[in-house]
Amino acid sequence: MSLQQGISEFRSQFRGVVLEPGDSGYDEARRVYNGAIDRKPRLIARCTDAADVMAAVRMARSQDLQVSIRGGGHNAAGLGVCDNGMVIDLAPIRYVRVDPSSRTVLAGAGCTWSDVDHATHAFGLAVPSGIISSTGVAGLTLGGGLGHLSRKFGLTIDNLLSVDMVMADGSFATASAEENPDLFWAVRGGGGNFGIVISFLFEAHPVDTVCAGPMLWNLEDAADVMKWYREFITQAPEDMNGFFAMMTVPPGPPFPEELHLRKMCGIVWCYQGSLEQANTILEPLRSYRPPAFEFFAPMPFPMLQGMFDGIYPAGLQWYWKADFFRELSDAAIDKHLEHAALLPTWQSTMHLYPVNGRVNRVGETDTAFSYRDAVWSEVIVGVDPDPANYAKITAWAKNYYDALHPFGAGGAYLNFMMEEGEDRIQATYRGNYGRLAAIKAKYDPDNFFRVNQNIRPAASVSRVSTSSR
Ligand SMILES: Cc1cc2nc3c(=O)[nH]c(=O)nc-3n(C[C@H](O)[C@H](O)[C@H](O)COP(=O)(O)OP(=O)(O)OC[C@H]3O[C@@H](n4cnc5c(N)ncnc54)[C@H](O)[C@@H]3O)c2cc1C
Repeated sequence: MSLQQGISEFRSQFRGVVLEPGDSGYDEARRVYNGAIDRKPRLIARCTDAADVMAAVRMARSQDLQVSIRGGGHNAAGLGVCDNGMVIDLAPIRYVRVDPSSRTVLAGAGCTWSDVDHATHAFGLAVPSGIISSTGVAGLTLGGGLGHLSRKFGLTIDNLLSVDMVMADGSFATASAEENPDLFWAVRGGGGNFGIVISFLFEAHPVDTVCAGPMLWNLEDAADVMKWYREFITQAPEDMNGFFAMMTVPPGPPFPEELHLRKMCGIVWCYQGSLEQANTILEPLRSYRPPAFEFFAPMPFPMLQGMFDGIYPAGLQWYWKADFFRELSDAAIDKHLEHAALLPTWQSTMHLYPVNGRVNRVGETDTAFSYRDAVWSEVIVGVDPDPANYAKITAWAKNYYDALHPFGAGGAYLNFMMEEGEDRIQATYRGNYGRLAAIKAKYDPDNFFRVNQNIRPAASVSRVSTSSR
């Protein structure tokens, strides 16, 4: 059957919208969050349910079309979209059901975290996620999920109870601790390699008002603050989360005008407890190096989740590099200061997210996400609206990364990587790579799902890392 005949037949079985080049809405639908990505798929299948996804997989197989899976479209490497193939776009599968009695949350694969936060907050609950609410639930979860609640409740995958999936042959499967446990192990960190998740069932936690927000210091204080932070955050009560940032002050409220566009460092806190308790815990820092500015107050959790969304609207140019770290030595701090002083644009930044507390109490072979012994996940992000500045933001991020990488633990958080090749993926999964490759061979032997941080099926693996460090 010709491709055009195949598409006609597919349209007749499909409930959602099918878009081809030239169709109205095609250009908007192929756009992803990173404005630097410009790919032109042959077909975009906007799926409404599992039946649509099954039909799309069968259609792509019969026409030998490469497939990319799109959840929230936030992936910086643009892995939700492909050239000449089919985008299986899950955006219309967007529902959240909260069950307050079991404290569980069912989220469709097209949800963003703002959908989940909105629905759960009404019940005084939250699911651990990231720090930007427009990020997709699907991609963030499948890579691990690091954010404001990680120290207390673990990664997003540590709160995942089950997933419904469409597999590479178009069949349907549920994966949980009881059903297809090998698949469930693999999807908790293995990204989009094993199938298309239609829905996620999460455990939620009582999180309502948090004491949260940024504290900022001048770069002259950054070394002292970083040294204080490295001691504090590894021993702090797990109710307290704080990620460290090298940044430029945004040119708008709530920041005072005299600080606008000044390069500074900051810590963004999230405390689950009273303001009085938070102030007691943070008093030593405030008296050691008083912040030049702070916006720390009790707020509804979704407000914290959306706090930075306005700074990072869709369509900016993004390039990022990442690493895990077990320690933050004085020599590494010197390098941070050197490169923070060179921040190329005001939206560019470096974040160090704590990967400790509850995250470290899950074993490194308990889920596909292996770096349970990391202490920080670093991401260096070059961002700017102007494509003419892409070379500048990329060069800065690469230079910063090159300077810090020798101090790193070896791998990086999957969701903070560009397309960096198989060695980097193996370094990230370490001892789990062989098991992942075997599970890939079982569920996707011909690597149908390969527009991702790809784990190759066992038979075609060139070199499987056996060391766990
Ligand atoms: C501004 C910004 C802030 C971020 N902050 C955080 C953060 O705080 N914490 C954090 O952990 N991460 C964070 N991330 C990284 C984020 O987790 C990844 O970019 C992730 O890939 C986004 O998921 P998505 O569904 O939006 O991506 P998409 O681009 O839609 O998908 C990315 C990949 O995920 C896989 N995938 C997506 N949906 C499915 C599905 N339903 N089934 C199977 N595979 C699927 C596919 O392989 C796809 O190629 C951030 C990203 C950005 C751009």
